[in-house]
Amino acid sequence: MILISTRDSRMGVPASKAVLMGIAPDGGLLVPLKFPQLSIEKDEPYPALAARVLAQFFDDLPELDKLTQEAYRCFDDPRVAPVVKTADGEYVMELWHGPTLAFKDMALSVLPRLLTASMALHGGSDVLILVATSGDTGKAALEGFCDVPHTRIVVFYPSDGVSEMQKLQMVTQGGDNTQVVAVKGNFDDAQSGVKAMFADETFVSAVAEKGYSLSSANSINFGRLAPQIAYYYGAYAQLVSMGEIAQGEPINLVVPTGNFGNILAGYYAKRMGLPVAKLICASNRNNVLTDFFHSGEYSLKRPFYRTMSPSMDILISSNLERLLFELTGRDPHMVSAMMKQLKETGVYDIGETARRALEADFWADWCSEEETMACIRRTFETKGYLLDTHTAVAAGVYEKYKKTGDATKTVIVSTASPYKFPQDVLASLGESTDGMDAFALSRRLSAKTGTRLPRQIEELETKPVRHKTVVERSGMREAVLEAL
Ligand SMILES: *Cc1c(COP(=O)(O)O)cnc(C)c1O
Repeated sequence: MILISTRDSRMGVPASKAVLMGIAPDGGLLVPLKFPQLSIEKDEPYPALAARVLAQFFDDLPELDKLTQEAYRCFDDPRVAPVVKTADGEYVMELWHGPTLAFKDMALSVLPRLLTASMALHGGSDVLILVATSGDTGKAALEGFCDVPHTRIVVFYPSDGVSEMQKLQMVTQGGDNTQVVAVKGNFDDAQSGVKAMFADETFVSAVAEKGYSLSSANSINFGRLAPQIAYYYGAYAQLVSMGEIAQGEPINLVVPTGNFGNILAGYYAKRMGLPVAKLICASNRNNVLTDFFHSGEYSLKRPFYRTMSPSMDILISSNLERLLFELTGRDPHMVSAMMKQLKETGVYDIGETARRALEADFWADWCSEEETMACIRRTFETKGYLLDTHTAVAAGVYEKYKKTGDATKTVIVSTASPYKFPQDVLASLGESTDGMDAFALSRRLSAKTGTRLPRQIEELETKPVRHKTVVERSGMREAVLEAL
């Protein structure tokens, strides 16, 4: 399948090349020339489903079946992304059964394998992966790329924007090709720093001189997006197998959203033929997307808040550009103009007609910190299901959505294990957490809720810290060149 840029549709590359590029040379995002149509198969093993999705785009790569089997081998549930019934017509899809306990594993266990297969096909130099992370991407990327031949990875995380557990997961990372660097500032500082490196020709040639070409593992890479389409099909097939829905019956999806990657994959699934009614976009207090869906205006003129769902603490939702491309009838000039406006003025407006067109597919709302905590407690007490802080934002938004009267069966997308955020989860349940470290908190959480302490957490306790570098935003380039 050929991919085109959201900012210049004359430029086309095969998906296997797009994975190596990360972003288009004009700064746009790469999107499929058209949406292939994919059927729903009951009782299909997850790796086979994922391979079938990938084959729609990566039609020039061999042995995708083997690739996805290896990618999902270490997941701790045979269904990979199991669906759990929590109430009548309400289900949770758990995307956190991989090595880092967060949904990023769903794509980042596949991406390095797509990259090496694409490198084998197209040739070229070794790949340097630069990642800016708000917490979960970093660790999942480090795990995915750890000791993968012909790759190096440097991960930047905001020094004060990730949870203690997330930080521990990253700074203890092993592997000879990995580097983890703290950047003073918030996630948008780290992300714009990485974007600036990609756009800096002097830097790119300095990297090339050392034998590497740059690529990204951030959710703007199409190799991240494609594997995420599969689990929406997987959830649907499970609901059919469980006898919860009839084949062809539409379902709603509620997605806790940050960079707009996960929910965009749900939208792509819909365009590929999955019966999806509403895509419900759930935000935390950084509710720039809620305002966008309600007013048509995307505005960065707002404060940035640190919340207990740090992976959603984002002001610039990069993947929204792919939705704008569809919304404008695939008009690269309009998309370019909006992105330019955002960069220069911090605002763009899609206008009332376009905004109303979005209402056919999307609904949006947000939860405050208090609402999120209350939702964790209420869900545990009334449904016996333990939510993490990100999924709780989605569950809370779904409670608001239900007041519209829509009784369509709904899947809440769960993006992290509660054990990644034990302090906030325990506090939500009304437990005191004073003076306890992340591991004591995890054991307390397990004792309090009767849920199993994940092995991934237990192993972390004895691992030595390997990465201690802290830089200013201006020092990011140097940190990379030093690492090579
Ligand atoms: C990354 C992440 C999100 C946000 O996903 P996007 O694709 O960026 O919208 C939500 N929850 C968790 C736990 C995450 O790691």
